[in-house]
Amino acid sequence: TIILGLESSCDETAAALVTADGRILAHRLATQEEAHRPYGGVVPEIAARAHVEALSPLIEAALADAKMTLADVDVIAATAGPGLIGGVMVGLVTGKALAHAAGKPLVAVNHLEGHALSPRLADRTLQFPYLLLLVSGGHCQLLHVKGPGDYARLATTIDDAAGEAFDKTAKLLGLGYPGGPLIEKAAAMGNPKAVPLPRPLAGTAEPHFSFAGLKSAVMRAVQSGHYATEDIAASFQQAVIDCLVDRTRRALGESAGVTALVVAGGVAANQAIRAALEDLAAAHDLPFVAPPLWLCTDNAAMIAWAGAERYAAGMVDDLSVPARPRWPLDPAAEKARGAGV
Ligand code: ATP
Ligand code: MG
Ligand code: FE
Repeated sequence: TIILGLESSCDETAAALVTADGRILAHRLATQEEAHRPYGGVVPEIAARAHVEALSPLIEAALADAKMTLADVDVIAATAGPGLIGGVMVGLVTGKALAHAAGKPLVAVNHLEGHALSPRLADRTLQFPYLLLLVSGGHCQLLHVKGPGDYARLATTIDDAAGEAFDKTAKLLGLGYPGGPLIEKAAAMGNPKAVPLPRPLAGTAEPHFSFAGLKSAVMRAVQSGHYATEDIAASFQQAVIDCLVDRTRRALGESAGVTALVVAGGVAANQAIRAALEDLAAAHDLPFVAPPLWLCTDNAAMIAWAGAERYAAGMVDDLSVPARPRWPLDPAAEKARGAGV
């Protein structure tokens, strides 16, 4: 079984071909970072137009890389949300058109499920259920991943996402966009103890994350003029690590029976964060799984793979399936906490 995956929910356009047993036959990606850089963040209208231009050539290129045609593809998987609605519609409508024209089944994939299942594409021995720290540009959550479409959310952020905190801090420091990799680079040359910064919610009995207070503290440190950029970056990154480790340690106490501690999403590309979580897993005698860096940030291989897992579980979608700007993995937990959290 060969799955074509399409991704267009944010500022990466991507197409990939993956087999049901987890072989990546081709993966192509075009990033729009240059187009958005002057604005310091993703501009939805620019993103949607760029996805329209980039997607068809990427699909052609991926098929050519695999020496295949659409006739060789068995399943079409496209991101159907959450994300910027204009971009999501570009990928989903393209997926629907291909599925209709070629007479293939369509799987509408939740982008977050793409991130959540990507560790199983990277490591085919990883079994359900696992404890997942999902840290990305728009999300910061702890989840029990029990199977495709089967998630229990233990924690989420009450304000900013982890990646958002990296991006906003990079902007405050004048480092540029996207901020995560630039902060990581600057932090490597700084002293993580130089700037006293808070660890919001760390040590509390409640399960959630918070990063807004950290961002404000960084702003005050910048405005004070007392600190070097590298020292602020290093201290900020250390504060984020301490928060992520503290909250994940708490969640491990509610995770009897999990097979592994797993991290995924764009922020999981950060080496210092990976190292800290690996230590935490070792202290709990659990295997630690993190996908390779390119599979952490947005890509279509993870969408094809989530499509493969859903298809194998009998989940296919009608061509009327909608694009969704919001789409929680655990709707019950979202409802219990109220909209926005
Ligand atoms: P979501 O997946 O929540 O819809 P998204 O798709 O925009 O959001 P991803 O592509 O998964 O997010 O991740 C992008 C985020 O990851 C950005 O905020 C970026 O700054 C962050 N990021 C990327 N590399 C690193 C890194 N090395 N260190 C820290 N953060 C990073
Ligand atoms: Mg991106
Ligand atoms: Fe993402």
